Amino acid sequence: MSAPRTFRIAAIPADGVGAEVVAAGRAVLDALAQSSGGAWTFDWTEFPWGCGYYEKTGRMMDEDGLKILEGFDAIYFGAVGWPSVPDHVSLWGLRLRICQNFDQWANVRPVHFHPGVTSPLRKADDTALDWVVVRENSEGEYAGLGGRNLSGRGPGNEVALQTSLFTERGCERIIRFAFDLARTRPRRKVSSVTKSNAQQYGMVLWDEVFARVAEDYPDVETESVLVDAMSAKFVLHPEELSVVVASNLNADILSDLGSALAGSLGLAASANLNPQRRFPSMFEPVHGSAPDIAGLGLANPIGAIGSAALMLDHFGLADEAARVRKAIERTTASGVLTRDVGGTAGTDEVVAAVIEHLA
Ligand code: ATP
Ligand code: MG
Repeated sequence: MSAPRTFRIAAIPADGVGAEVVAAGRAVLDALAQSSGGAWTFDWTEFPWGCGYYEKTGRMMDEDGLKILEGFDAIYFGAVGWPSVPDHVSLWGLRLRICQNFDQWANVRPVHFHPGVTSPLRKADDTALDWVVVRENSEGEYAGLGGRNLSGRGPGNEVALQTSLFTERGCERIIRFAFDLARTRPRRKVSSVTKSNAQQYGMVLWDEVFARVAEDYPDVETESVLVDAMSAKFVLHPEELSVVVASNLNADILSDLGSALAGSLGLAASANLNPQRRFPSMFEPVHGSAPDIAGLGLANPIGAIGSAALMLDHFGLADEAARVRKAIERTTASGVLTRDVGGTAGTDEVVAAVIEHLA
């Protein structure tokens, strides 16, 4: 027998329901590891970073936190943000800092129906909604460029500038990533989303790079759609989509719409990948810290457990990832659902059902 393989995972539950859903994902992965008969194990280290940590220390994470995280195989993240800390401070102080420092330039967000969950689309046949939103995760509208008080004329006359950054290299790598992903899917199609009629520099560059890269993938269908039209298409013609690639802001908005169409924000999984694997990648549910239900044991853990499955894929444990997805499917199909998707179950009951269905 070969030596057991240990995957070192940094868990950062951070804020609100983050703690509940990270605990849920850990419980499922630990149950899975136990059933591997010792072939592989997960070695977890949990970090107390987030808004509570900020209130005590004035920092969202340890000063050498990035250095510490660098030694892990992956980061398993909960959610960041709490009403006591301005959102841009908490987001940039932790989540975006990790994404940017570890060059996690591809954000992958699958969207699909869950058996037993009614989608607001009510076109409930399970082929109608099966996409992956691929989000450029390193530049675009979230490049962090700009400034305040640029007029120098004081209150009432303030001018602020928020600049988007589009590089040819940044566009090309995410677009290629989307095409490569499309080749692994039943429908080989990539839809590119911009607003290049109104934003005439960066987004036009994106469109040009998309057209050029598409020539290398003659076997993949393509389309370029404006983001406003794509929002309508998500709702009206979901069956026409497979891989949707878009800039940071556009894909952020579209993927929340996508998860709502699937039935709830609480269902959606995501991976922030450093595809070159020079740095750890980070896996987290799409939803935020949900202060309205935090601490009540009501959070839907499916998005976080689905994100754990994406982490297994990243570790090369494809069969195990499929097992987790099957267990999620059996759980929702059996009607064990949290309130956001019309059920009465608590977080713990869903976790117990998923673990039971792993068998
Ligand atoms: P962020 O800016 O971090 O994305 P947000 O402001 O978009 O956060 P969320 O925290 O995601 O907001 O919450 C939006 C709504 O979705 C809230 O009503 C919340 O209760 C609900 N919600 C989010 N996550 C879950 C979950 N896991 N289970 C159930 N409901 C959830
Ligand atoms: Mg949000």
